[in-house]
Amino acid sequence: MKIKTKLTLGIGTLFCMVFLLAALSGWYITQLKQDSGRILETNYNSLLYARDMLLSLEQHGEDDRAVMRFEENLAKQKQNITEAGEKEKTADIAAHFDAWRERPADQGLKSSLRKDIAQLMQLNMEAISRKSSVAEQTADDAIITLAIAGTLCFVVAFTLLVNLPSNIADPIKKLSSSIRQIAGQNYSERIHFPGNSEFAEVARSFNTMAEKLEEYAESRLDHILQSKKRMEALLEHMCDPVIGADENRRIIFVNEEATKILGLSATELLGKQAADLALHHDLLRDLFKDIPSPTVGEPFSSHLKIFADDRESYFEKEVVDMHMVPTGESERKFIGQVIMLRNITPFKEMDLARTNFIGTVSHEFKTPIAAIQMGIQLLQNDRVGQLNDEQQDLIRGIKEDSDRLLRITGELLNIAQLESGAIPLNMHESEVKPIVAYAVKANQVAADQKQLTLRVSIAEDGTTVFADNEKTAWVLTNFISNAVRYSHEHASIDIAVEKRGGRVRFAVRDYGQGIEAKYRERIFERYFRVPGTRSGGTGLGLSISKEFIEAQGGKIAVESELGSGSCFFFYLNEA
Ligand code: ADP
Repeated sequence: MKIKTKLTLGIGTLFCMVFLLAALSGWYITQLKQDSGRILETNYNSLLYARDMLLSLEQHGEDDRAVMRFEENLAKQKQNITEAGEKEKTADIAAHFDAWRERPADQGLKSSLRKDIAQLMQLNMEAISRKSSVAEQTADDAIITLAIAGTLCFVVAFTLLVNLPSNIADPIKKLSSSIRQIAGQNYSERIHFPGNSEFAEVARSFNTMAEKLEEYAESRLDHILQSKKRMEALLEHMCDPVIGADENRRIIFVNEEATKILGLSATELLGKQAADLALHHDLLRDLFKDIPSPTVGEPFSSHLKIFADDRESYFEKEVVDMHMVPTGESERKFIGQVIMLRNITPFKEMDLARTNFIGTVSHEFKTPIAAIQMGIQLLQNDRVGQLNDEQQDLIRGIKEDSDRLLRITGELLNIAQLESGAIPLNMHESEVKPIVAYAVKANQVAADQKQLTLRVSIAEDGTTVFADNEKTAWVLTNFISNAVRYSHEHASIDIAVEKRGGRVRFAVRDYGQGIEAKYRERIFERYFRVPGTRSGGTGLGLSISKEFIEAQGGKIAVESELGSGSCFFFYLNEA
């Protein structure tokens, strides 16, 4: 039944009951009023007339108006005949009264008259008694009927009081608790209200909604699971090892390649803290070591040598941060990192082969070049024979080219040595002056050819360094040779050695073309040459210099301005 019908019925019944009760009460009150009115009208008035007649009879003789009053009351009584026998009694009174008027002294007639009046009173009193018992009966009926109707009203009202509020409140309570369940993602929640009340309709709509939500959640879950499986399959089929850790460095995924190189199963790794595992696992320790969490700016990458598959392999370790924007938020949140290892062993091997090749070739070149230079020296000697001017020019050209060839071969040998691993250093306390003198001397001829002035200044306090003087001289020679090459004719080159910040600073300043800002860092990379630079170099000199200086614990840098010249400098520790 609908709530509206229930309420209408309940309140309607109560209304009807109250109305019935009021109608019954009114009806009984009217009945009682009628009963008492009837007694008053009929019998009580007759008693009054009879009493007045008796009084008039007693006052006869004292008062002349007594007879008139008797007649008046008798006339009224004649009009108020209501009971059986009353008419005859009234007629008797009238007959006896007429007779008594004619013979007022007749005491017998007077007493008969009194008797008649008394009998009339008796008659009416009996009627009153009879009628009052009828009224009593009516009152009793009223009490019983009203009590029954009242009880019925009470029962109906009580039933409504007990049932109606819970009939409305209980479904609302159930509905709100079910809505809470849905809000808590328990989509299996259902409501069943019998009948076809409004609540039953709400329950049906609620169940439809819950069903759809359940279906949606399941399909979404299915979708998520599918995507997860796809991602896992993708990870599994990657040929490079991949390890994922959450923001607390707990391992959350690994692929087969990663388990292979780590020598641990996925179950041994997943869910474990990397720090705990690293305690007994050197490779894991190396993998997670030095990684900032999160890596700021650029993705973190480094090289790693791992012994896997019964041989030494080289891996490039790249660390990528994982971020996500939580639902309803706008800020990106760091949620972990992915470590990817790229096997670079084949490239390393190729690189090694190349280095070996460069080393061998440049080594092999050295002997014939030395022989060529020896031949040139002999040809320049007058004892071998006099050369004309043209021949001398040719020999000078060959000498210059062989010098260049020797320099390039030297650089290639150096690079091969650097790439093959350790740079053999011969560190000891070295005087600055001989190093500078050697470098200046090596470049003097070239500087003279361009009419350049080499200005040397060595500060009093920076006279000794702790260094490999051969390599330091090589770097300084390279700096001066570049300065000579990139200076305009008739210019000067300043070579200065001084103490700065507790270290010895070697600087070579030229006033040549300078270097554009965008190339300033790159000139220290291998084989890099500023685009448009005249040919004749290898692009290796500065990269070798950097490695030589850094191997000695020093620092190399350049300050330059396009068009104004450059200042190349390096710092070494004081002895
Ligand atoms: P290269 O054999 O080409 O000189 P380097 O490694 O010595 O190789 O130098 C790399 C590049 O840096 C050069 O090709 C040149 O473009 C630039 N460079 C080096 N020194 C100077 C300098 N003093 N002035 C201007 N450019 C220079």
